[in-house]
Amino acid sequence: MKLDPLAIRNDFPIYQSFEQRGEPFIYLDSAATTQRASAVIEAEMNYYRNVNANVHRSPHKIGMEATDLFEGARRSVARFLGTPDEAEIIFTKGTTEAINTVALLLGEQLLKPGDVILTTPSEHHSNLIPWQMAARRSGATLDFTSLGADGSLDLEEIAAKWNPKTKVFAFQHASNVTGVVHPARELCKLARERGAISVVDGAQAAAHIPVAVRDLRCDFFAFSGHKVCGPTGIGALYGKRELLERFDPVFGGGEMVLKVARTSTTYQTIPFKFEPGTPNIAGAIGLGAAVEYLMKLGVNNVESYLNELAGFAYERLSQVEGVTVHGPRSDRTSAMSFTLAGCHPHDIASILDTEGISIRAGHHCAQLLMQHLGIPASARASFYFYNTKKEVELLVQALERTKKVLRYVA
Ligand code: PMP
Repeated sequence: MKLDPLAIRNDFPIYQSFEQRGEPFIYLDSAATTQRASAVIEAEMNYYRNVNANVHRSPHKIGMEATDLFEGARRSVARFLGTPDEAEIIFTKGTTEAINTVALLLGEQLLKPGDVILTTPSEHHSNLIPWQMAARRSGATLDFTSLGADGSLDLEEIAAKWNPKTKVFAFQHASNVTGVVHPARELCKLARERGAISVVDGAQAAAHIPVAVRDLRCDFFAFSGHKVCGPTGIGALYGKRELLERFDPVFGGGEMVLKVARTSTTYQTIPFKFEPGTPNIAGAIGLGAAVEYLMKLGVNNVESYLNELAGFAYERLSQVEGVTVHGPRSDRTSAMSFTLAGCHPHDIASILDTEGISIRAGHHCAQLLMQHLGIPASARASFYFYNTKKEVELLVQALERTKKVLRYVA
């Protein structure tokens, strides 16, 4: 089924809000955060208004209802990520916290001096700094794959240069800068065959392509609610059951325990041993509603719509004289980073903003990738299923006007 972006906007109250204010709203920054669907806002409101109680610990009706909603959300996330085992889903604050949790856990309980953590120069800082920290704490070393000019990974080269001491391979499924979608299944296979644990940063991919962790056969997969129309401050970590059971939690607190003695604790089963303290209950319920919304649209439909829109945006932006689009033409998400010769990305973003067009500018929390691309910063337009080809055209027209303001010379 082909998605209809204008009809979809009825599900996003912000579009009505701007229309009522009579202000233009061309939101092209969904790789930073998507807009919120009404279903998500209503699910959170329903919890706070009608079912507000703590989960798992309250021996009253309302507490049980809250627990049912919370655990229902976990089942939705499990279905969204393609695992039948909901205990493999741990709620976190988002991708960043999910990766930090895995890095802490592996740094403490697996990695030894001399071991290698392999990552790529394309990573968001969320999938880089936690590994720098894990390396420092454990004595392991951090190593990097090479990267193609368009930000793609060369599987054969990675295999050929594989260091047998590699214990962890942490990589992004898709880049928030170049939009490139890496061959995650094959990369996980490589890690598995060489005895390393695969950790996939799915922050961008989960919003664009159907993810099936059991098909990817990854060990860990992280994503954020706010990139899939859900709330901020909530996300999930998928971990393979046998690994989650094997490792001890790295954070301690209430509700994660079976028995506590003075100097030791017996932990709950998964996922609860990894969720100490009162969780972001409303956020988790909102995330459940978000992934249900995406599954109702059809994640395959989302993928085909975004592929078409990204292809169109790539062509149109590349036709603008002076513009370089960074990233591949195909096998990509709709995150479209570009530079305009002689013009600073922040100036471009500020001028576009005066026309009601919201894009991002900067290093996008990926400074290693910026160095690789040989640029200090880029402008980035990123599209979601509520965006249209017409908005791509409006962006292109506004860029031509921006060039005049910035006195672009060929
Ligand atoms: N990885 C990638 C590829 C991202 O795009 C982002 C968000 N920009 C993150 C990780 C971090 O996500 P969050 O800030 O939601 O934790």
